[in-house]
Amino acid sequence: MEIRKGKKWQIFLLYVFSTLLILYFPLTISASSYTIEMERIITIVPIDDIESWILDDLTKRLEATFSCRTKIHKTIPLAQKAYNPGRNQYYSSHIFQDLHRHLTPSKHEKVLAIVNVDLYVPQLNFVFGEAELGGHFAIISLSRLHQSFYGLSENKTLFLERALKEAVHELSHTYGLSHCPDSKCVMHFSNSLLDTDKKSSSFCRHCQKLLDEIIGVIPY
Ligand SMILES: [Zn+2]
Ligand SMILES: [Zn+2]
Repeated sequence: MEIRKGKKWQIFLLYVFSTLLILYFPLTISASSYTIEMERIITIVPIDDIESWILDDLTKRLEATFSCRTKIHKTIPLAQKAYNPGRNQYYSSHIFQDLHRHLTPSKHEKVLAIVNVDLYVPQLNFVFGEAELGGHFAIISLSRLHQSFYGLSENKTLFLERALKEAVHELSHTYGLSHCPDSKCVMHFSNSLLDTDKKSSSFCRHCQKLLDEIIGVIPY
């Protein structure tokens, strides 16, 4: 009788333990996914081969600019359907469609795709990048940021500065910022590389205030 009584207790304790275990794990899982869902994060997506020194520099500087966490997604292949042989360029909107297939961003996640190839949209000769205003996705092309594109010798510092300006500009569009008339502000529209070199990688007071108001309400 004593042995059977002991077994009953063992079964009872096992039942309590497994119930607690079942209750605990869904709570842990939903709590962690809630944190990710609410977190301000920028995911960088290298398309084809983007060198690590470029990604390392950009991630550090974007974290400082947007006070956020960054992560680097695994490399995805360049969508060949975006290629226009008549222009020898890639249609950025088609690359966007492909990005949507690869990633489903969380609520406050922004995605910055980086390509080496030259991009275009139908009404323009080329674009440095494109973004969804108030959305999740942005893309920048490094192609025209190299001095070698213009037959000049490479300048790594200048190249990284240009890449940062384009990345900050396009990502800020995803946070809802529009173009700014101040030619020194990073949100000024770049018609040419001269415009990019003329502007800084920082925001004017007006745009900085707007960005602070927008990202200030997102937990970090
Ligand atoms: Zn723009
Ligand atoms: Zn501005």
